[in-house]
Amino acid sequence: MKLSRITTPRSTHHRPVVLAVALLSAAIPHQAALAALPQQSLVPGGVALIAVGDGKEPAPTVTFAGKRVLTTTQDGKWIAVLGLPLSTKPGRVSVDVQALGGSRDQHSVVVEDKKYVEQRLKVAPGQVDLAPQDLERVDVEQKRIRESLGSFSPVLPATFSLQPPVSGPRSSSYGLRRVFNGQPRAPHSGMDIAAALGTPILAPADGKVLDSGEFFFNGGTVFIDHGSGFVTMYCHLSQTDVKPGDVVRAGQIIGKVGATGRVTGPHLHFGVTLNGALVDPALFLPPP
Ligand SMILES: [Zn+2]
Repeated sequence: MKLSRITTPRSTHHRPVVLAVALLSAAIPHQAALAALPQQSLVPGGVALIAVGDGKEPAPTVTFAGKRVLTTTQDGKWIAVLGLPLSTKPGRVSVDVQALGGSRDQHSVVVEDKKYVEQRLKVAPGQVDLAPQDLERVDVEQKRIRESLGSFSPVLPATFSLQPPVSGPRSSSYGLRRVFNGQPRAPHSGMDIAAALGTPILAPADGKVLDSGEFFFNGGTVFIDHGSGFVTMYCHLSQTDVKPGDVVRAGQIIGKVGATGRVTGPHLHFGVTLNGALVDPALFLPPP
């Protein structure tokens, strides 16, 4: 087991590292574009950049917890861009690396602990326990959401550097652990951006719409695939301007800010996944 770790120089801490995608793999079609790696953050909910092979060799197939991991090149090396799930336990985390020639290897990084803020709320009991028919609906929707967020298309993203989908104050509530009436609920897995009802939401990068629809908790929702498991999601929309299969360009309007689903007011919930893990969107955005 090799320990490989790429550290981001401090000077570029908040700026994505620009690299040229020069080498192409058999699995990933030609894409002569500049890509910027996300900021590395070796904590649960962060992103690990792991060197997984010589860039002169064909791209290895990298997997983590059974899921394909995005692989790109930088400085003559293959780099796995691994999304670390919020549920990651601190310690050594390994990816499986399968070379085209057949050799198999593991590469690992050490993930540090991060104590996300806990929010304890007291609400009316009916707001915590769902009615059976709502539970059933949520169950079906969770599968549909997982399908979009866990998809892996054989194209490389044009970039990892995202434009803010709406301008507005961003909450730093990613990872917030929510406890309702003493019962722990799923942590907050995205970024909330405050914006007025009807504010246009712009695609933060080129991509293809995977799914859209009305969801119980998330309200009007759009999922965009940017390639190789890099997927973004937009929730609580009052209006959706795209449909599944649409190709979108960076800056194109995909919908409008709303307050649909379970919310207390209009805002955009913005989620970003790598290898099916919802990671901190701030790692892909310019500083606020
Ligand atoms: Zn949110």
